[in-house]
Amino acid sequence: MNYYSINLEDHPKTSWAIHEVAKRLPKRPRPEGLPPVFYKFFPAADVELRMKPQYHHLCCKKCGRYDSDKIFETGFDDPVTIRFKGEYGYTNDRIFTVSDRFLKVLKQAKVGGFETKPMGKSGWHALRATLLVDHADGVIKTRKPLCSECQRPKESFGVFAYLSELSLPDQTNTFFSTKSSWQASHFCDRELFISEAALLALRKGRIVGGYCTRLWTDEERKKQMLKAKEGIPFWRPPKTSVCLNGKLLK
Ligand SMILES: [Zn+2]
Repeated sequence: MNYYSINLEDHPKTSWAIHEVAKRLPKRPRPEGLPPVFYKFFPAADVELRMKPQYHHLCCKKCGRYDSDKIFETGFDDPVTIRFKGEYGYTNDRIFTVSDRFLKVLKQAKVGGFETKPMGKSGWHALRATLLVDHADGVIKTRKPLCSECQRPKESFGVFAYLSELSLPDQTNTFFSTKSSWQASHFCDRELFISEAALLALRKGRIVGGYCTRLWTDEERKKQMLKAKEGIPFWRPPKTSVCLNGKLLK
């Protein structure tokens, strides 16, 4: 069976779940004594931001990083600022967010392995995987220094690209993710994956918003290395990228 990572198109405008966009709201004075980290952590050219107070205690006072699971457990309220072109995406404050319709498509197709929380009355929902699997060590790399307060690294990077790097689930119609999370990685704490059947459900539902990348087999990985030796450095197996562009399946 095939499994895919969920990927996004680039969004020209920023989106926010746990920050208020101050420019669009009546002006409020900054509460006194609030560490500046709540303002500085996410530089955003197009908006002025203020983290909602209910999340402050979840952030490291020094580096500002937080565990998105803890944020999810706290829940979400209005106002949120979602400006995706499609029906899903990561907010700039690291929350995977789907539309009402996206959620309906998942429910109708009985896709498992996830839970959602509404984002106030916005019609958007935060989604996270509940089916968490073991993974190979060393795929995600980290860059020092570690934060002296919370020990999180300065940066984490890397993606899971091969089937053999994950303990694949037995469920056939599901979201899943890794047991570990990396709060210093770009965009999100952990990658989100789906099985072939779940991807088919999204395509049948004509969900729009990006594409999914098929995880490669070991044979494909070996073939790529072989091709590289032959002087073809960027060989890719066919059909690794599946567009979610709203077009009906043929
Ligand atoms: Zn820290």
